[in-house]
Amino acid sequence: MATIGRCGQKTVKNEEWHVWLGNQFRSVQVTFKHMKTVRLRIVIGGQIRLSAPHRTNREWLEHFLKEREQWILEQIEKMQRIPHTEMEKAKSMPPLTTKERREALAYLLPLVEKWYPVVAFHGVPMPHVTVRRMSSRYGSCSVGRGRITLAEILLHVPKDCAEYVVFHELTHFLYPNHGKEFYRFIEKHMPDYRQREKQLRQINKNKA
Ligand SMILES: [Zn+2]
Repeated sequence: MATIGRCGQKTVKNEEWHVWLGNQFRSVQVTFKHMKTVRLRIVIGGQIRLSAPHRTNREWLEHFLKEREQWILEQIEKMQRIPHTEMEKAKSMPPLTTKERREALAYLLPLVEKWYPVVAFHGVPMPHVTVRRMSSRYGSCSVGRGRITLAEILLHVPKDCAEYVVFHELTHFLYPNHGKEFYRFIEKHMPDYRQREKQLRQINKNKA
């Protein structure tokens, strides 16, 4: 527990829970703090971190996790695969300057706005969009936080490919995993997605 802030009120409370996910009890680091929404993330190494506003009902939070079980398991697997060196690389990437971020958003937001209506039709709220310098990925989606993160590098790949990444991340709000339905949905709205994906992989190979 820590006390910070002007009024000196208790602002952070940490707990460790064990929640039944993927046929086993998994450790979940839970942080209660002054915030408005619940945030869920899986950190490199595969640990589950959940932050929630003070006094959020435990049963409700466990249900929240259960609902995202598939996504959590996928993320854990993914995060466990990231080698330590990738993590170090990601850490050492300098953050974007305000100007760079503004420019990147000016380019990428219209792409989000172009594709968002497709998922909005299925009831997905407009996500927050952030741009970051990412070393190993083109984008990511945090379903729990209603956020998509796009890599700055998308400014330097063909626009078709950037659009694919944007639409891919938006589609995760409907299908958190990469199952058949996920790709069926993408193909329905972007029939040439495979070519775009292939082109991106090619670029990534050349980059490495
Ligand atoms: Zn994906």
